[in-house]
Amino acid sequence: MNSKLRESSRRLEDAVCDITVLAGEGKVLPLKKGQILRLIDVCGNQSGDVQIYNAHDRSERYSAPNTITAQANTMIELGTVIRSNDGRAMLTVIADTCGEHDTLGSGCSAEGNVVRYTGKTRYMHSCRDTFVRALIDYGMDKRDQTCNLNFFTKVILDDSGRLEFADGISGPGKYIEMRVEMDILFLLSDCAQLNNPCNDYNPTPIRMAVFDA
Ligand SMILES: [Zn+2]
Repeated sequence: MNSKLRESSRRLEDAVCDITVLAGEGKVLPLKKGQILRLIDVCGNQSGDVQIYNAHDRSERYSAPNTITAQANTMIELGTVIRSNDGRAMLTVIADTCGEHDTLGSGCSAEGNVVRYTGKTRYMHSCRDTFVRALIDYGMDKRDQTCNLNFFTKVILDDSGRLEFADGISGPGKYIEMRVEMDILFLLSDCAQLNNPCNDYNPTPIRMAVFDA
């Protein structure tokens, strides 16, 4: 097995919470420090867009720049510490059968759809809208939008600094497992974008399983 890949010894039947999120839907999952979260790409090549907040101080949230700078690597992979805007650890990747997950492509939005794919896509799915809808129940709104991660998505950064969505390296049943380093709100938007290959043009469910320490 590739040194970036590691399987987990945990059994799904031991999960204390097991949720399947359908493409186009969003879900906020409150997680406690010490718990383990497994994200499963049920059918393969699905993009899981994620924002993360400190459960007790929501002004502390996932930071792509701090995560990338601390590890000098733009990809989330085995061993990555996902960091907040205060530089603190939020999650640590402890198992991964996919290999690479994107920090740069951001979430799809109405504005991004128009710029990337012309005006006729303005009213198609956007993860940014899904994020806002899901955050309302937690007293947050558009102003709480921040960086997001794209699990199971590959975005190529070339030498000139250009980004390109690539065909995924994920597959049916591949997963990433992370240890929760502080109490967090983990917000997943299961992306239903149809205009780039992030979902292999076939949006499918993502399963979230939680294990106690
Ligand atoms: Zn999206």
